Amino acid sequence: MSADTAEPSPAAARPPHFLEQIIEADLQAGRWGGRVHTRFPPEPNGYLHIGHAKSICLNFGLARTYGGRFNLRFDDTNPAKEEQEYVDSICRDVKWLGCDYDEGPQAGGLFFASNYFEQMYRWAEELVRKGKAYVCELSAEEVSAKRGTPQTPAISPFRDRPPDESLRLLRAMRAGAHPNGSMTLRARIDLASPNFNLRDPVMYRIVHEHHHNTGGDWCLYPMYDWAHGLEDSIEGITHSICTLEFENHRPLYDWFIDAINEGRGPDSEWGPRIHHPRQIEFARLNLTYTVMSKRFLLRLVREARVKGWDDPRMPTISGFRRRGYTPESIRAFCEDVGVTRQNSVIDVGRLENACREHLNRIAPRYMGVLRPLEVVIDNWPAGTVEQIACVNNPEDPGAGTRDVPFSGKLLIERDDFMESPPKKFFRLAPGAEVRLRYAYWIRCVSVEKDGAGNPVRLRCTYDPATRGGNDPPDGRKVKATIHWVSADHAREVEVRLFDRLFNAEQPGARTGDQFDDLNPSSLEVLRARVEPALAEAVNTARSDEPARVQFERLGYFATDPDSRPGAPIFNRIVTLKDLWVKEQKRG
Ligand code: ATP
Ligand code: MG
Repeated sequence: MSADTAEPSPAAARPPHFLEQIIEADLQAGRWGGRVHTRFPPEPNGYLHIGHAKSICLNFGLARTYGGRFNLRFDDTNPAKEEQEYVDSICRDVKWLGCDYDEGPQAGGLFFASNYFEQMYRWAEELVRKGKAYVCELSAEEVSAKRGTPQTPAISPFRDRPPDESLRLLRAMRAGAHPNGSMTLRARIDLASPNFNLRDPVMYRIVHEHHHNTGGDWCLYPMYDWAHGLEDSIEGITHSICTLEFENHRPLYDWFIDAINEGRGPDSEWGPRIHHPRQIEFARLNLTYTVMSKRFLLRLVREARVKGWDDPRMPTISGFRRRGYTPESIRAFCEDVGVTRQNSVIDVGRLENACREHLNRIAPRYMGVLRPLEVVIDNWPAGTVEQIACVNNPEDPGAGTRDVPFSGKLLIERDDFMESPPKKFFRLAPGAEVRLRYAYWIRCVSVEKDGAGNPVRLRCTYDPATRGGNDPPDGRKVKATIHWVSADHAREVEVRLFDRLFNAEQPGARTGDQFDDLNPSSLEVLRARVEPALAEAVNTARSDEPARVQFERLGYFATDPDSRPGAPIFNRIVTLKDLWVKEQKRG
């Protein structure tokens, strides 16, 4: 990842998007002293998914473009669903993406909203004393039953309770004197607002539960709308970027900070004014064939439909990492899809393409055969093994060549042979000739079959004049090149092939339940045979990052953490081309 720091900011290469335009106007106006400070504020109630990656790259990228800072802040205001495991995984994922929050020029720091509970509570008391908040004894059900309609206002019988009485009750709530759900603190805003979020929203609820950070200190927990702007304010965030669902919460974001600031100033009893950041919304990332909801992903894990949050089929950042995706390719994808205010669904193929594009540049090539078929070369000099020089990476001339053993007994891909081929099948068939990558041309002379009529061995001849795979002097042509390994030299390895986790472009659209569109066969495990150099290369690879390679013609593969010394396991990251679309059409 050392190359990351040298990566130029991609923002320089294109016109500024709408968020950049807003920030540039703020900078020009001298707002916040020319500072840019962004944050990524996850709730630690699950692992991060690719939608979060979009938000992380966006926020970090803005800080980088404008020489600003970037915070990671846990919005840990809900004790029931939050766990240390999630906190740890999120820190790791954000760093892995290369969006460092505690090191480097953009380092703004790591924060926990739960560390602000005391400060937030003091501001809440202040609003009570200013007559801007009150303790309400309606249950959650009653509040929603009395929320009114667009034509009729909400009803809140406690909103004219004297501030002193609300203050006394609030303190008793904090002290633990009241059970869950018996009381809330509500903001006194506007019961008739056409925006229902402003109809005296709840600021605090009572939850007697252990919190992963504050333990048993609190039984009063702040609601998102009350807490979020205050968290941003405390950290000096300038641009608080969130997804479009929060657009009609923005008046509330501003109302709370304005309410605290009312009457504040240099000589005020309340103290100085607090920082007021700017909330801006953008369209969330949606992908075809993908579900992005921590709640749903948690269900997949709990019901063991996948092998964990980091199952390579999961759309989580840890799943992509385990599968072998590079952080560079995820960043490139996020940059490529851009930033808008229009909701849309992006073709998941674009993410796969970003991955291919990066791996094409960096991944060394090897040969491996997934479903072997034996080839015996009848005219090969008995007992001879030739070392064939194979190019490591055609995209990188500096990567050089390696020697691959070639002998009279080879393995090729079963699919590369057809006994009665259709017209446009140019690979191996009885009587047909094909090029073996970097080696020789071979011609199939006869087929040996098992009792069920399946080919088990092809008898072939080779042409010594085609050494290196080159055209022979007589002007003969072949149309196809196939990969191969030498049967006696090949190593057996486990290979895991993945299909999409969902069969439907929009999972759940048909029946309303995304589970109904789960692909029942999204994992295939094979024993493949690979050239010896690959097994050796993998044994020397660093263990914290997978080794990423191309199996010629089959795709890009990465070593799985389940690998053991001498027994590598390969995950297919992505095929070389978008085969899936073609197969769907055929089927
Ligand atoms: P989910 O609904 O999947 O559980 P969430 O929005 O509840 O996600 P948070 O932890 O609250 O998860 O999200 C942290 C940040 O990530 C928020 O600022 C949110 O706007 C952003 N985010 C979440 N999903 C997406 C997405 N699909 N595209 C872009 N940003 C997203
Ligand atoms: Mg959320």
